[in-house]
Formats: sequence, C-alpha cells, structure tokens
Amino acid sequence: MIYWDNNATTPLLPEAREAMLPFLGEVYANPSSPYSAARGAGRAISNARDQLGTLLGADSKNLIFTSGGTESINLAFHLAKLAEPQKQHIVTVSTEHAAVLGCAEQSAGQGCRVTLLPVDEQGQLNLDSLRDSLCDDTALVSVMAANNETGVIHPVQEIADLAKNCGAYFHCDGSQAAGKIPVSLRSFAPDFYSVSGHKFHGPKGSGALYISDRVPAGSLFQGGDQEFGRRAGTENVAAIAGLGMAAIKAKEFIDEASSIIPESLKVIEDIISKALPQARFLAPSAQRLPNTRLLLHPGVEAEAVIALLDEKEICVSSGSACASGSVEPSHVLRAMGVPDAEARSAIRLSASRLNTVEEAGRVADSLIDIIHRLATMNL
Ligand code: PLP
Repeated sequence: MIYWDNNATTPLLPEAREAMLPFLGEVYANPSSPYSAARGAGRAISNARDQLGTLLGADSKNLIFTSGGTESINLAFHLAKLAEPQKQHIVTVSTEHAAVLGCAEQSAGQGCRVTLLPVDEQGQLNLDSLRDSLCDDTALVSVMAANNETGVIHPVQEIADLAKNCGAYFHCDGSQAAGKIPVSLRSFAPDFYSVSGHKFHGPKGSGALYISDRVPAGSLFQGGDQEFGRRAGTENVAAIAGLGMAAIKAKEFIDEASSIIPESLKVIEDIISKALPQARFLAPSAQRLPNTRLLLHPGVEAEAVIALLDEKEICVSSGSACASGSVEPSHVLRAMGVPDAEARSAIRLSASRLNTVEEAGRVADSLIDIIHRLATMNL
C-alpha cells in the first residue's frame, strides 16, 4: 500500500509503539498513586512533557496532555471565555477546522458575536481586516498555523501580536503544523497552541494544549487535579508516552532539514504539470506546508479518482466532505473562491517522512492515467 493521506492521520512510528508498550502491560499503576509501582508511570508522563516541550520550544510546565486536537481546541475556547466572561467577541477565519468553527458557533449560541474573517484565493487572510475587526470586547482570536486541506500557512506571529495589542487571547491550532515545520512557542508566545499526536506519527487519541502563564486557572472537565488542574481524569499514560517519543523523533527530523518530503512533492508537481496541462495545484503563491498539495482538474470527480487509486492500493483523500451520499465541496475551497464544479475534483496529497520519492513517481503516474481516462470519458 502507498499511503499519501498523512494530513488525515499518520502511521504510528515503531519507536512510539515501543515507548507505549510497558504502559499497556506491566506498568499499569495509576500515575497519581503514592507507591513506587506508580512512579514509572508518573516519570513517563513528565518525560513525555519534556519531549513535547523540546519539539514545540516550550516550557513543559505549560503543556497539558489531552485526547487530541479537538479536545485541545475546545479547552482553549473554554478557558478564554472563562477568563474573560465580560467580553463577548471572538474572531476566527472561514477556513478553520470544524473543531474551531464548531466552538465559535457554540460561543455564538451563548451570546458571543463572532467575526469570521474571509480569505483570498491563496487562502490568506488580510491582516488589515483582522486589525479592523479587533476591539476592547474581543476575548479570543483563533487562527490555525497551517490548513489541513491546502497546507496554507498563516503569519501567526503577526496575528498573535495584533491579538495581544488589543488585549485578546490568541489561540493557534497547530494540529497540522506541529511536527512538520519548526516552531518556538517561547518566542512566538501564543496563549494557546493545540497539538494532535496522530498527525506526527504518535497514537490516535493523544494531543496537547500549550497554555501560557497569562491564562488563569480553570478546566473544561470537572474531577481530579491531574495535568496541573487543567484536565481532570486519569492520564492515558501509554498514549502520552507514545506522543512524547513521536515528538522527539519529529524534532530530530525537522533539525535534519531533510529534503525528502519537498523532493517527493516536486516530483509529483513536475510530472503532473507536464502530463496534464489543465491540472493546477491550489495556492501556488502562498507559503504551504512542505508535505501538502491540493490538485484540481476540470471534468473529473475526486470520488472516482480516489476509488480507482484505491484499486491500486494508493490512499489519498479529497478536499470535499461527503455527507449523506451527496458530495459537498469543502468550506475551505468555497472560502477560497474555487467554483463548486472544480472543487469537486480536489485531490489532497499529503506526505510524511516515511514516504519515498519513488512512491511519489508512482502516485503521479497513477493519477495521470486515471485523470486522463476519466476526463476523456466525460468529454
Ligand atoms: N485541527 C486541524 C487543523 C486538524 O487537521 C485536525 C484533524 O484533522 C484537528 C484539528 C483535530 O485533531 P484530532 O483528530 O486530534 O481531534
């Protein structure tokens, strides 16, 4: 199988699996228990916190383990609103992940005014519009570091500065950026940064939220005082240990500055652009994640392309959401002004460091063959 859908999830790294195994077996004591048998579990959590701190350039005391990106995002929104109950305005962007848009919608249902900033055809928001939208009443600005469908990267440092200047909290959804591009939360200094373990070869159901010292105490779940009182509930020690190992391995890969992923993507872009003159890759002039490309081709349906690739044991995904049998173009592509007919052709190619340049060639050749066949059938 050739797996090129790494923005959906990534395979668990063997080293991460190894790091998890003791906590699925002999080291089962509750990390909060007072006896020595529990200390191994406690140490594993604090080791993983240090490892994640190394990846994110953050102090480990600011990192809270959660069940994934979705929970981290919900916790960030909850804490910001808890800290600023008198403020009633939230700013976010139309291309955010459903978790952020859902939290914004929930806040609107609770009486908040939500500004949903538009993006241009490159997926970029206008910083002047952001500045104009901010006011004394703004509790939270939430902007993702990188988009899961297009890979488009936002200038989050400038956005964090704008939010801070108006006294708002800044949450950055780093679920797609963490483990793929360098970050130093110490210098970037957001108030919240969400991370998802399974996006960088950690286990599913693992994640973290960075919370700055500026954010007052509080928690989404009621219960014990685990995770510095920020996240009640007995820790998933195995998942946390796996996430920590995945984080340190991702950091090593980022530091190597290997060209394997950009080379693979370049092979795909070059081969496809030569063979399919009507094809285009979305947002070519935007800064994008090195592992993500979204391919559009008129006259083909992504669902058909994906099914035919699947027969060849190649996994990619579309930029569309398939709900109750009808294929709806994604909100991201709509926000970028891609016509619905073209958006329905969107194929997302997302690589990881476990992919090879040779695989890239095979993915490109298969895509050309399939798109060519489908496009001629539809003439
Ligand atoms: N945010 C972004 C940008 C994502 O791509 C995802 C996952 O697709 C999430 C949040 C949610 O992460 P999780 O699956 O860990 O809940």
